[in-house]
Amino acid sequence: MLRPPCPECGATVSIDEDDLKYFRQFYCDACGALLEVVDESPLLLGIAAEEPVHSSWEAGEDGADEQSSTL
Ligand SMILES: [Zn+2]
Repeated sequence: MLRPPCPECGATVSIDEDDLKYFRQFYCDACGALLEVVDESPLLLGIAAEEPVHSSWEAGEDGADEQSSTL
């Protein structure tokens, strides 16, 4: 178990070493910030940029161009 400081609030964050992978994201228990593993050795945490949520998946072109030969 590793306990690096949260870059946002400075509280110690508990991370299992099994969970320690590059770009692994998790939340700080203290401030709720979304954190990200920037470097493994030495362990370095960064504040992850939250991904924008897709408002709606546009299904514009329906690429159904299958030509079935009917006899
Ligand atoms: Zn925090």
